[in-house]
Amino acid sequence: MATSGGQSRVDWRSWRSWPGFLAASWRSSLQFRTVTITVVLSGIAIVLVGAYTSASVGNDLFQSRLGQVLLDSNRATASAQGILDSSDAIDRVQVQALQDSASSAISTASSSSMIALFRVPGQDPSTVAPQDFSKFGDSTGAISLDLQAAVQEHGGDQYWQSVTFQDDDGSEYPGVIVGSQLRLPVAGRYELYIGYSLRDAESTLSFLQQTLLISGLALILLIGAVTWIVVRFVVTPIRVAAETSQKLASGDLEVRIPEKGEDVIATLARSFNGMADSLQSQIKELAELSEVQQRFVSDVSHELRTPLTTIRLAGDVLFDQRAVFPPAAGRTAELLHTQVERFELLLADLLEISRYDAGSVSLDPEPTNLVHLAEDVIDGMRSLGESKGIDLRLVAPGGHLNAEVDPRRIRRVLQNLIGNAIEHGEGKPVVVSVDSNQNSVAIAVRDYGLGMSQTEVTHVFDRFWRADPSRQRTIGGTGLGLAISREDASAHGGWLQVWSSPGEGSCFRLTVPRRAGDAVTASPLPLPPDDIGGPHV
Ligand code: ADP
Repeated sequence: MATSGGQSRVDWRSWRSWPGFLAASWRSSLQFRTVTITVVLSGIAIVLVGAYTSASVGNDLFQSRLGQVLLDSNRATASAQGILDSSDAIDRVQVQALQDSASSAISTASSSSMIALFRVPGQDPSTVAPQDFSKFGDSTGAISLDLQAAVQEHGGDQYWQSVTFQDDDGSEYPGVIVGSQLRLPVAGRYELYIGYSLRDAESTLSFLQQTLLISGLALILLIGAVTWIVVRFVVTPIRVAAETSQKLASGDLEVRIPEKGEDVIATLARSFNGMADSLQSQIKELAELSEVQQRFVSDVSHELRTPLTTIRLAGDVLFDQRAVFPPAAGRTAELLHTQVERFELLLADLLEISRYDAGSVSLDPEPTNLVHLAEDVIDGMRSLGESKGIDLRLVAPGGHLNAEVDPRRIRRVLQNLIGNAIEHGEGKPVVVSVDSNQNSVAIAVRDYGLGMSQTEVTHVFDRFWRADPSRQRTIGGTGLGLAISREDASAHGGWLQVWSSPGEGSCFRLTVPRRAGDAVTASPLPLPPDDIGGPHV
């Protein structure tokens, strides 16, 4: 099902079946593969672009907010310093009031309530110096030592630090702390820290990220859907072409691909149909030719029957009187007799095989005990076996050995197999085994004679094929015996198989279904036989 898009059924509720289903879809559906690859690749591209956009917008937002914060804090510090410088406070209360008004000026100018003032350490103790104070609440710890050290050391400059503030409710948010120095009259230098929240920038960024995420997902879905539709347009005609060629390959020569339009698919359809047309006509021609040949063989065989019968009768007369002929003429009469006999056999086989070719063979199945049938055949051939010094044995372990077969044909198969085994058995025993299982019955004919090579085995059922044409033949086969036997086996819906090895003999196994019309799925007898190396019995 390479291109038909046929995917195995899946139970969507059981997620365990998903991986298998997806793997099967990946293998079997071009459409699924294309859509998956497109979605994954465009997904990666969208994630990269989204991450870059989000990072650069985040950075830009931070930088612009930082610039604003630094400007604000600079302005606030300057205005506070102005207030401090223009004051002539000298005692503790005045300095404290001055510090209060400076810090509220900072608060107003910087629009931030997070302010901290710490007296720079290392100055002479002062009795008028106001107390350090911090309005950072829980976030006072956010002012790092590094920032403090920088502010303490370089009084005139502005320093900043990126931090995370904590709300009263414990929630965290990003911010910036800017540090600088203030000079209080009489009291000395103070570190000033102003905290700015970056909540706005953060929420702008997260809104942007959310928008990017949603639009990215929507884009991926859209790309998937569009690819699905586009690939469908392309794949559907290819699938039709694939299905059609499958049907054509399985013998349905009438199928064609619908030809629509002028595009490349239409060209494919036209060339495919052209190919199918020429294939069909050539096959038709060959079939006709083969039919003519079959009819010819059948006609010739029929035509030869009558003259042959006459020759046979005349030959029999001569054969019966051969004793009165001069020796040379007597031998000729004998020769004529045996050759006419062979001719008759050959003609009978030819007629039989041409009946198979014409499809006019019908079975006459009847319940038959195959052990009895095998016994019968063996008894009939025992004297032939003995003439060659061959012992014919029957092994039938029992069980249900009845089957619905055409006994005449099975008998013929057995006669042929046993005849061959005697012919090529080199005087060693020939074992006929019969066994059965639930659905089928098998008969194996095993000899321990010459055997055949692998190449010979592949030709053994070919018509008129003989392993070694120069071999001495005593039974006078026609070379059609096994071809007919195989046709007999398949007419029963069964098998005729062979195992053979040079020097180790051969084993022919016939397996037929018990009930006419059934098919054979397994044979009750082993092949290769389990007695390679010598007979067990
Ligand atoms: P025939 O026996 O009339 O020649 P078959 O179709 O029965 O024709 O057999 C074809 C050939 O297969 C035989 O000529 C022989 O060479 C080979 N063959 C068949 N049975 C055996 C066997 N049991 N051992 C060795 N060779 C065999």
